Amino acid sequence: MTDDGNTAYNSRIEALRQDEFPMLRDEVYLDHAGTTLYAKSLVDKFAADMTSNLFGNPHSASSSSQTSTSRIEDIRLRVLQFFNADPSEFDLVFVANATAGIKLVTEAFRGNPLGFDYLYHQACHTSLIGVREEATNSLCLDDSAVQGWLGGTNPILESRHRDRPALFAYPAQSNMDGSRLPLNWSDQLRKGALTPGRPVFTLLDAAAFAATSPLDLGDSETAPDFTVLSFYKIFGFPDLGGLIVRRQAAPIFQSRRYFGGGTVDMVVCLREQWHAPKTQALHESLEDGTLPVHSIIALDSALDVHRQLFKSMGDVSSHTSFLSQRLHNGLAALRHGNGQPVCVMYSQPSLASKATGSHLGNGPVVAFNLQNHLESWISLVEFEKLAVLKKFHVRTGGLCNPGGIAHSLGLEPWEMKRNFSAGFRCGTDNDIMGGKPTGVIRVSFGAMSTLSDVHKFVAFVAEFYRTVDIPEPILRSVSPVHPDLPDLVVESITVYPIKSCGGFRIPARTTWEIRAEGLAWDREWCLVHRGTGQALSQKRHPRMALIHPAIDFTSGQLRVSYRGPSELGLAEISVPLSANPSLFQDNTTFKWMASRVCGEEISVQIYTSNEVNDFFSTVLGVPCALARFPPGGLGKNMRHAKAHLQKHQKVHKKIHYRMPCQFPGMETPPDSDSESEKQRILLSNESPILAINSSSLEALNRQIIEQGGKAVSAEVFRANIVIGSLTSSPQSFAYSEDHWSGLRIGQQEFKMLGSCRRCHMVCIDQETAGKSEEPFITLTKTRRFDGKVFFGTHMSHIPSSGISTKDTQFPTITIGEHVKVFQ
Ligand SMILES: *Cc1c(COP(=O)(O)O)cnc(C)c1O
Repeated sequence: MTDDGNTAYNSRIEALRQDEFPMLRDEVYLDHAGTTLYAKSLVDKFAADMTSNLFGNPHSASSSSQTSTSRIEDIRLRVLQFFNADPSEFDLVFVANATAGIKLVTEAFRGNPLGFDYLYHQACHTSLIGVREEATNSLCLDDSAVQGWLGGTNPILESRHRDRPALFAYPAQSNMDGSRLPLNWSDQLRKGALTPGRPVFTLLDAAAFAATSPLDLGDSETAPDFTVLSFYKIFGFPDLGGLIVRRQAAPIFQSRRYFGGGTVDMVVCLREQWHAPKTQALHESLEDGTLPVHSIIALDSALDVHRQLFKSMGDVSSHTSFLSQRLHNGLAALRHGNGQPVCVMYSQPSLASKATGSHLGNGPVVAFNLQNHLESWISLVEFEKLAVLKKFHVRTGGLCNPGGIAHSLGLEPWEMKRNFSAGFRCGTDNDIMGGKPTGVIRVSFGAMSTLSDVHKFVAFVAEFYRTVDIPEPILRSVSPVHPDLPDLVVESITVYPIKSCGGFRIPARTTWEIRAEGLAWDREWCLVHRGTGQALSQKRHPRMALIHPAIDFTSGQLRVSYRGPSELGLAEISVPLSANPSLFQDNTTFKWMASRVCGEEISVQIYTSNEVNDFFSTVLGVPCALARFPPGGLGKNMRHAKAHLQKHQKVHKKIHYRMPCQFPGMETPPDSDSESEKQRILLSNESPILAINSSSLEALNRQIIEQGGKAVSAEVFRANIVIGSLTSSPQSFAYSEDHWSGLRIGQQEFKMLGSCRRCHMVCIDQETAGKSEEPFITLTKTRRFDGKVFFGTHMSHIPSSGISTKDTQFPTITIGEHVKVFQ
């Protein structure tokens, strides 16, 4: 359609909307990909049809039954013609919905004596993904993997059975973001040279595509073998689905084992068991039970009224593309006062005019997320509350499209599992996790959508989610920073995933998450003695220093290696990062056990794998097991910090923190459950984060050397953060951390919780696990207060109470960030 054509269509719909869709009133319905709306004429016409004809159960001799049978066969033909499918080449099987069509195909393949291999595209709807559970082998492919397959690389899973059929499934259009996939893949796969001898079938999910686009099965040589659809997505009513089978692929259904009423000619029971499936028409052998007679009859009215109101599917396609292009442009153009975009778009803009060349265009679906002017994500739950109030009907969340969501949002499998084990479920409240959204907002159009729907929605987003006047950040009003401080930076960041074992140094340029309990993945695991349940410590077991855990986000694993004398001949072991792997593996991974950490009774999850536990027991020579203490627990699954200011520390205790970017008078009240005094920790001894000042280490090493000793490395103090200076710092700067009240690292604020008390564990060389006297001897001489020895400082992150920003939503630190000290 031309621009004029689109405008004319739009005016026609605006004119008939009130009469044909009276149930809309002043609601703005934008969830046509969920189901589209049924016209009043359709319901009236159907009602008239029902009240003027007597319809009985088909397959009988009565005239009412005959009426039903003949109407159903006429409609079957009519629907095939709607998709330009030649009835001698295709058959239509009526099913409850698209999912039921998929299950029928699955039943046939499952019955194959050789099983079947299943390949599915990443953009698949959940209903297609479930097929993999029935397959012998299955594989999820992205675009490039499919292209590779078509180009000759064979992804078919290892199989000794060259005759085992393979089924490839993909959506013609993604229900998540409207992206379209090539319709000629079935043809390319069939031109079988790619997989010589191997039968490959194609299952096309056209449920989303056919709703607003013409689906043309005119060429049976190139058409998919199986095409599934949902009629309610095209017409709004009836609630019915269809499976269109290419007759050449029909023999695969002979291996379907189930039969039901309606699909057999004769059944023998009792002493013999035998049945004769119906053989006349394919659909007869697949439509188990009584057909949804009245729904099928409603299709007649649906087809009539659709043509009468909207003319052709080509017109619907052109109109809805035009609308979604307008919406896409409208949302993408919205900017906050500081130029930041309001919407992060996941859908491609659709082309209003006919798609040209190889460009497939995009369905009339716009998927996006909202951000505030500081790039903090807007929660979908919050968005939906307001949208409901303002009468907008849109879909939010994961949209039954896990592959598409993961791809759009950049979610790795381990992150999805972490979110799941942290309590995230389809439809929960907490939808921003680890600084990333877990779903999207989806707006979708149908034949009866109009430009005014588009304008209303863009105006709504602009009114509530665009910040035009950016509030001036209020600068903090804490006591001034130290007057003659050197330029401080974060020199290194280290976490100790397994308590008392080696550290994992965070690589440069990697942002690392800070949580209330400390740095992410710090001291979340420990080793416990199998007999006593006591958590093991390096003080007693120095070889723990040689056990090196590493956080591997690519594989979603904690990988643990041993870096000591090689005679133990130990290979690396690994455990999943997700907090509750039993959700994803067999449920024997863990059992709960009472344990003691620093004299405190807690409850930990003990790993039951012998491979894992033997690894640690062999290194340490004690029977021990790996245990985990995941964040977020209650009761004995929760610990609190014990660090406090010491007598030698001269710190102003009454600090009033004011975060940047806070409105005057708009200070968020503290949450009722905030634990300002009781700071949560995992398995660290005393506090969430331990920092050391490298000037203090230099001072200490000077003293050690003066006494004829050897300088020690920073590692012995097992700090999380080493703070160093870019310029040379005055000697007086050493140990100034005793009197710091707080720090700002990059955008994040920390409060100091007091000095760290030391024991002779600092004497263990972290490279060799050997013991010496230093630095403890020198520390006792120079850093003893009140009979106790101190080095380094405890601290905790202060969550922001101001407007949410990208940094407050997902607080992180990075090596090299600037450090400001508050006195
Ligand atoms: C809606 C939809 C489905 C599921 O259809 P049902 O009729 O609910 O079974 C499957 N795939 C896609 C692409 C869809 O849009």
